[in-house]
Amino acid sequence: MTVPEAQHLINGELRGSATRFDIVNPATEEVIGTAPDGSHEEMSEAIGAARRAFDESDWSTDVDLRVRCLHQLHDALVEAGDEMRALITAEAGAPAFIVAGPQYDVPVGGIEWVADLIASYDWESDLGRAEPMGIPTNRTVRREAVGVVGAITPWNFPNAINLAKVGPALAAGNTVVLKPAPDTPWVAAELGRIVAEHTDIPAGVFNVVSSRDHGVGALLSEDPRVDLVSFTGSTATGRAVMAAGAPTLKRVFLELGGKSAAIVLDDADLAAAVGTAAFSVCVHAGQGCALTTRLVVPRERYDEAVEIAAATMASIGTGDPTDPGTVCGPVISETQRDRIEGYLRLAEDEGGKFATGGTRADRDRGFWIEPTVIAGLDNSARVAREEIFGPVITVIAHDGDDDAVRIANDSPYGLSGSVDSGDLERARAVARRVRTGTIAVNGGVWFNPDAPFGGYKQSGIGREMGVAGLEEYLETKLIAEGA
Ligand code: NAD
Repeated sequence: MTVPEAQHLINGELRGSATRFDIVNPATEEVIGTAPDGSHEEMSEAIGAARRAFDESDWSTDVDLRVRCLHQLHDALVEAGDEMRALITAEAGAPAFIVAGPQYDVPVGGIEWVADLIASYDWESDLGRAEPMGIPTNRTVRREAVGVVGAITPWNFPNAINLAKVGPALAAGNTVVLKPAPDTPWVAAELGRIVAEHTDIPAGVFNVVSSRDHGVGALLSEDPRVDLVSFTGSTATGRAVMAAGAPTLKRVFLELGGKSAAIVLDDADLAAAVGTAAFSVCVHAGQGCALTTRLVVPRERYDEAVEIAAATMASIGTGDPTDPGTVCGPVISETQRDRIEGYLRLAEDEGGKFATGGTRADRDRGFWIEPTVIAGLDNSARVAREEIFGPVITVIAHDGDDDAVRIANDSPYGLSGSVDSGDLERARAVARRVRTGTIAVNGGVWFNPDAPFGGYKQSGIGREMGVAGLEEYLETKLIAEGA
């Protein structure tokens, strides 16, 4: 793998910063590169560049230019695929097999999808003639860009989430400042380089600033020159972003945490449904916001379900993320590993038992947690209510469909979930009652560029991807002409 030099992109210029910070490979603890440690001044400069590009260029009004630039970006990302996939595995520890799907290839496809969407989108529609208060009027509804978008992203799916924000925000005609997580600045810097070197996106329209200091990203929520903050990360930080945006009444778009339930009904194929849920929680070491980390199974088959989950997760184990056969790679950092271990101790304190796992993995280097099944607790346990963000599943017993729905909904979160049943109508009836933004029925997959994704309750506000994901970045204007 060639090691590119991570740089900022500010006002069309690729450049370093006075100080830099290390990028660490979580599987090996090796320093694999450095990133610019952006200052408040650099962030302010990037916001200023985005503001000018929005106010003074025709980016927001020239749809043809945007379609062309997004196709250029898509093609360049496809071209850079091998290098980008390797970077994601190196800096995020994401196993190669998911990098080839949800981490890279699917979101890159999303750039092409949104380019095609805006080419045929109804930017203006005729609302027809009316006579409000007796005054004859012809009405037109226009969709227009919101303005300057601050995009703040987490480390778990760095490229996917960067693209899921940047693609629709640019497609809608906004200008963007992207601030990646300090653990994963590299793929964002590469996105900046690709935009600068391979597209006609005008200077200032897209900017990337990385920083070790979360306060630099927080400027995006505070600065009056920013119109909308699009944030993905923890619910606690989402609250801080919303509060910091309140004085300037910024629009906020939040994709936050989750504690999703995999509901297995009593007529389901238990082995298949439990095996799938247990497998999915191991993918990328459980560092996915929408993973089904609560496995809700019929009480009479509880022990059997625990055994199946344990056998599945024990056989998966942990592995080198560059190996195409690996499902469960490292967790992102020492801090994150320690946090997960804290939850494992808590599970024991609460009376839970480990059917497998329950410890860090025995490896010399890197940050690893053994895939873990927690049994013997109900939905009131903290490990069943709080996001652990590791390869950990808590198995909870239910007493029928109503009880399963109650348990699934008894959560501050509402991001995703699944239902499995031998009877499709029964599964659908349960799916309709679960208060989450996405839900899989009998193994369906909701993740795709045309499919809206987001949360109910404290899992967020707004939708990413799909037509709804474009419209998050649009204003609505009504033009009324006297006739
Ligand atoms: P985090 O909240 O710690 O950080 C996310 C981003 O916010 C980082 O770029 C960070 O630098 C920045 N940040 C931190 N404090 C800030 C502040 N006060 N103002 C502005 N920005 C600030 O989250 P994380 O640990 O990087 O990511 C894991 C979390 O993200 C999990 O809770 C996970 O569920 C969530 N997540 C949600 C989704 C979703 O789509 N719902 C997707 C992926 C991850």
